[in-house]
Amino acid sequence: EEPVFDGKISFKNVSFTYPDTGIEALREVSFEVEKGQFVAIIGRTGSGKSTLANLIMRMYDTDAGQIEIDGKELKNLNLNNFRNQIGFVPQEVFLFSDTIKNNIAFGLSAIEEGQVEQAAKNAAVYDNIVDFDLKFETMLGERGITLSGGQKQRVSIARALIKEPKILIFDDCLSAVDTKTEEEILSNLGKIMKGKTSILIAHRISTIKNADKIIVLDDGKIIEQGTHNEL
Ligand code: ATP
Repeated sequence: EEPVFDGKISFKNVSFTYPDTGIEALREVSFEVEKGQFVAIIGRTGSGKSTLANLIMRMYDTDAGQIEIDGKELKNLNLNNFRNQIGFVPQEVFLFSDTIKNNIAFGLSAIEEGQVEQAAKNAAVYDNIVDFDLKFETMLGERGITLSGGQKQRVSIARALIKEPKILIFDDCLSAVDTKTEEEILSNLGKIMKGKTSILIAHRISTIKNADKIIVLDDGKIIEQGTHNEL
């Protein structure tokens, strides 16, 4: 029986250098995200934000220090079981030449009636989809239509939300979405992620004002952490 996670994340003196380039992307990074917290990560381009998200997804192992999930070392966990409980929205959206429905339900073995539609609503992309003649059966990619950048991001968000994850990681995936739509998505997230952990990598201050904690990265190091009022 594989564990169901509570969603506490700890970084303990984590350092990471990309082996191919020798770039030291994270240097002795330590922080905690309690179960149910909403944490925002900000920092200039190249400061290490995506690297941090990628390390939680365990695309790489840390060079020094450790990452713990519910107090257990990430590198000792069953990777599939762990990843199945995480909704990860990468910076680069990846869509398939398939229907919108299959793009949203990607990776799920069974879907219940209305689940895809609900995820699309939560990601604020439902109204766009039902405007297409074939609605959720609309083909994307080479044999189908091309979505706008913001629509692609929202389909990608719906794909993460449909898993009802314990932990949600958004890597700068609201950049092509207007502020009003962003607010709608964040307000939906506030409801569906209640009691669950979310990490949001962001650029706009408006995105992060409701975060329980804001972590500021610079050149691979945490230079500040606190609430919006504290910083
Ligand atoms: P942005 O806001 O532009 O997305 P970021 O804060 O997410 O930036 P990272 O993508 O984590 O920053 O990059 C941190 C450093 O690591 C940068 O110097 C970058 O060039 C380098 N880097 C990122 N990805 C790789 C990779 N796959 N291989 C080698 N070096 C990388």
